Amino acid sequence: MTCPACRTGKLFPNQNMFDYSFKMNSSCSHCNEDFEREPGFYYGAMFLSYVMFGILSLIVVGTLILLFKIEWRLALVCLAFLLALTFVLQFRLARSVWIHLMVDFNPKKK
Ligand SMILES: [Zn+2]
Repeated sequence: MTCPACRTGKLFPNQNMFDYSFKMNSSCSHCNEDFEREPGFYYGAMFLSYVMFGILSLIVVGTLILLFKIEWRLALVCLAFLLALTFVLQFRLARSVWIHLMVDFNPKKK
């Protein structure tokens, strides 16, 4: 969750994922890379989040049912609880992955 250009500056002002803040820095404090690239830039992150956490959900539920022999209804409740606890992390991770896919690493940028 660092700047995609310099990998030094932080994307989010608060690093604690349990503060439930969706606030994101507008630019990098180190290289001044713009994190608000254009209106709607992060719409792609929503779709990416859907795919990433859909796959994770299948893995979690599959593991609970197949390995731990938990009933499927309880596995879904566990999944819902896990996803509700980590929704800020999901939001931040999806945005971070998305901007890293779109912006090239440039170690010389200051
Ligand atoms: Zn930077």
